[in-house]
Amino acid sequence: MNVSDFHSGYVAIAGRPNVGKSTLLNHLLGQKLSITSRKPQTTRHQILGVKSEAASQVVYVDTPGIHNRRATAINRYMNRAASSVLNDVDIVLFVVQAMQWTDEDEAVLTRLQSVDAPVLLVINKIDRVSDKNTLLPYIEELSARYRFAAVTPVSALHAENIDRLEAVVAGLLPLNPPFFPEDQVTDRSVRFLAAEIIREKLIRELGQELPYTSTVEIEKFEENEDITRIFATIYVESQGQKAIIIGSRGSRLKSIGSKARADIETLIDGKVYLQLWVKVREGWSNDEQALRSLGYSTE
Ligand code: GDP
Ligand code: MG
Repeated sequence: MNVSDFHSGYVAIAGRPNVGKSTLLNHLLGQKLSITSRKPQTTRHQILGVKSEAASQVVYVDTPGIHNRRATAINRYMNRAASSVLNDVDIVLFVVQAMQWTDEDEAVLTRLQSVDAPVLLVINKIDRVSDKNTLLPYIEELSARYRFAAVTPVSALHAENIDRLEAVVAGLLPLNPPFFPEDQVTDRSVRFLAAEIIREKLIRELGQELPYTSTVEIEKFEENEDITRIFATIYVESQGQKAIIIGSRGSRLKSIGSKARADIETLIDGKVYLQLWVKVREGWSNDEQALRSLGYSTE
């Protein structure tokens, strides 16, 4: 393959929380990188997912959802991260949920008005639409409001029409050499992904009981030949939350730990020892200093 014929580019996955951006990214990559849940705002950090083919490479960027809830430091950080990436990519996927349009979708659409890159409208969760005839007016209404380069209905969860979406993206990629080696799937370290996996298990286990302000920090990450030892701390905001996570005689924490360990073992294809602690750090989500110490850039 002549390098000058190679196509590659950055593709942002934008949209309000909970429309299925992380699920879509995982299916586009055919591998789990981004954590997903029914609870909005699961994705806090920007995650790159690299999909390499013989003649092309797509670098997907999963953005934290743009939203207009409480103006806490972490929400401001997430909005900034989501907004700035849109000016820095070759293509934007604007993900919405079929037959649903909220003020938060409206806010994202407004933000897209100043984007130069082509924007593809991705209508997700079409599996939930029983009468497909109702989709057409919905599509027409949205198309009238923005110069979308294409409109693609998909079901990220059931991997429906994802290949069609990939074909549309491929057709819009600029001529570029690859950005990453072809065997690299993400720019994130195993250490980072391990923390994300632990956070996902926490959210799954606790559902609405878990404040989304809880966070996971990897204290120590030792890779040995036979086993990888991971020591992680779950930070919460109160003693009450700590007790909930630990559960009766530590049963909940144990269950979170063993599920996370299993996923990390799959990820690294090796044995893992995982030690989890829960600590209280009061009011961190509204404290720029504490955010920085946890690795969130607040600039
Ligand atoms: P994000 O906040 O936009 O990243 O959304 P997630 O990917 O975390 O998904 C939010 C919820 O929607 C999860 O419960 C997903 O399982 C669900 N979901 C995502 N895609 C689909 C889909 O195509 N169909 C259905 N029925 N549910 C979906
Ligand atoms: Mg997400």
